[in-house]
This record gives sequence, structure tokens and C-alpha cells, in this order.
Amino acid sequence: MDLLVPSLPTPLQEITDSVIIKAGVRLYIKRDDLIHPTVSGNKWRKLKYNLEQARSEGAKTLLTFGGAFSNHLYATAAAGKYSGFATIGIVRGEDPGERKSSTLKFCEEQGMQLHYVSREEYKLRNSDFYIDKIREQFENPFIIPEGGTSERALQGVQELVTETEEQLGRSPDYYAVAVGTGGTAAGILSTGAHVLAFSALKGGAFLEGDILNLVGENDKEGQLELFTDYHFKGYAKYTDQLLDFILKFKKKHGIQLEQVYTGKMLFGLYDLIEKGYFKTGDCIVAVHTGGLQGLLAELK
Ligand SMILES: *Cc1c(COP(=O)(O)O)cnc(C)c1O
Repeated sequence: MDLLVPSLPTPLQEITDSVIIKAGVRLYIKRDDLIHPTVSGNKWRKLKYNLEQARSEGAKTLLTFGGAFSNHLYATAAAGKYSGFATIGIVRGEDPGERKSSTLKFCEEQGMQLHYVSREEYKLRNSDFYIDKIREQFENPFIIPEGGTSERALQGVQELVTETEEQLGRSPDYYAVAVGTGGTAAGILSTGAHVLAFSALKGGAFLEGDILNLVGENDKEGQLELFTDYHFKGYAKYTDQLLDFILKFKKKHGIQLEQVYTGKMLFGLYDLIEKGYFKTGDCIVAVHTGGLQGLLAELK
């Protein structure tokens, strides 16, 4: 049975407060966190056409890559279970034994087979010879790259833009989105939209090239603005200032953000709004990419 049925279109919610009013801008949140209870946000968008392709190729098994806290592994494990594929996760780092992260526990509960590889081996994840080896070792699974980020992922993300523009009745001046691998930012950028991309990683400057390569057209550079200073000490790290922002945002707007991606993106966006980055009348759509299964208990 296919339990991967999404709630579409996801709501487009306007939010307002003194910062927004003072700057004279309009801010909407595209609530992709509400797309599906376990395959949330951008992971659902990115998996959609990967799964369709796997099905049309008659694949039985999905294989993908991620770290111990990967929202993508989590989503793939659930998506596979709901739509009748076996799943294999290649996990970066040593087998944690009894000390598994809740993400990896969840993946196992969905029936995902986990294979741990060294950090050196994990670095090979996108190279052709390694993929060939994996294909042979695991009997020809359908391989989804890390983060679900592939050409087919862009196609799924483009539908987020179509949906938003129907809801809004126009194109916004900017989309704001958090970046891990860059697949979501690339999907939005590929529609011709202007994208403000907030790196969740420290030293994320390389992501600009990655995003532009994914789009595969070299005329999009002027449409992309990558911000690398809102990582709060690095990937999956956080500070009291960030947690405080997330708690206040929830209190004010009733929207739960998490500390790895969406909290950092909205913190960065508010900082830009306050600093006068936008013109009066600008319309911004911030994408809530989900990820709430990784929420810190103290933010609930
Ligand atoms: C995975 C993830 C991202 C990063 O998406 P990319 O397409 O890899 O850049 C952003 N937000 C959330 C909540 C995620 O889970």
C-alpha cells in the first residue's frame, strides 16, 4: 500500500510582526513541514521523482547515503516502507552499537538495512567506480545520492514553486531556503526564481558552485545569493541565541522551527530584514523544509 500520499498544496502562511512592518516587506512561510507526517518537507519533494523512476525501472531496493542524524536517511527509510521498497542506508562513521541516534533507530524500525563505512570510504559516495562497486555488492539497487539530491530531485522541488505562485497569484521577489547539499535551493533556482540560500554548514562557500552545477546552466549566478555566516558554529551545532530565536518565533507565530536548518535560515532572514537588505514592498517566501523529527527536546 502506498502511504506516501502528501497533503498538497501545503499552506502558504503570511506572517507579520514589528520587524516586518518596519521594513515594509511581506513574508510568507511555505509550510512544507506539513506535507507528510514522516517524509517531511523538502525530502518528500526530492524523493518523489526518484521513487517514480525506481518504480518504472522495476527496482526492489533503494540505497542511499547519510550521516547518523540525516533527515534524508530518515525520510528514505519511511518512504521505502510506505511504498513497498526495501531500503539500504550507507552510513558515515563507525557502527554506534547500542548508542544509535534516534534517527538510525527509526531507520531500522522501518526495515532499513544499515551499513557503516569509514569517513574515507564515505567521501567516495559520488564517484563512478565506488557506485559501480556498491551496485555489485548490493545486487543492483536503485541508488539515490546523499540528501536525495539529483536531477530528479530538482523536478520535485520545482513543483513547490508552481504551487507557491498559484497560491500567491504572482512570483515572490525572493525565496529563502536552508542549504545542506543544495538540492532544494537548486530546484527553486532552476525555475528562474531569485534564491536567498542559507548554509547550515560552516565553511559553506563551496555550496554556491554545487548549487549552480546542479542547475547546470551558467546564467543563474546573479539569481543566487548564498549566506555562509549563519551556521552558528557549524552543522547541527547551535547557540543559546539561536534557540532563543526559535522559541520566540514559535510563541509569536505558532510555527515550530528546528535548530539544524530552518531556525538558522529564518534567523538569517530576520537579520537581513533588520539590516535593510530588502526594499519596501518586497515579497519573500521562506520555505519551511520540515526536519522536525530532529528537534531538540528543549524546543518542543
Ligand atoms: C535536508 C534538509 C535541508 C537541506 O536540503 P538540501 O536540499 O540538501 O540543501 C534543509 N532543511 C531541512 C529541514 C532538511 O531536512
